[in-house]
Amino acid sequence: MKLTWKEVPIGGVIPKGGVAFEYKSGDWRTFKPVIDINKCVNCLICWIYCPDASIIRLERHVDVDYYHCKGCGICAEECPVKAITMREE
Ligand code: SF4
Ligand code: SF4
Repeated sequence: MKLTWKEVPIGGVIPKGGVAFEYKSGDWRTFKPVIDINKCVNCLICWIYCPDASIIRLERHVDVDYYHCKGCGICAEECPVKAITMREE
């Protein structure tokens, strides 16, 4: 039987903006990026490339927002001085 759009049950509803911020996507991670602050030159390339906006800018180096970081490893791949190591959780 073919349903009309009026008969299809309501699926995923996003009730408001900014819900991705509240969602703990860090739960998905199997590897975590660890910053070596002695190697970091604060170039912010990892901050630009991170698809989850999980790189935190600090005065002299960066840090990671582990609540949202999914552990994709892009930051470690792109860091020009290899200041980021992916470690198993
Ligand atoms: S591992 Fe991926 S999600 Fe986590 S900080 Fe690096 S680029 Fe962002
Ligand atoms: S890409 Fe590497 S050197 Fe640049 S800010 Fe990120 S961790 Fe530091």
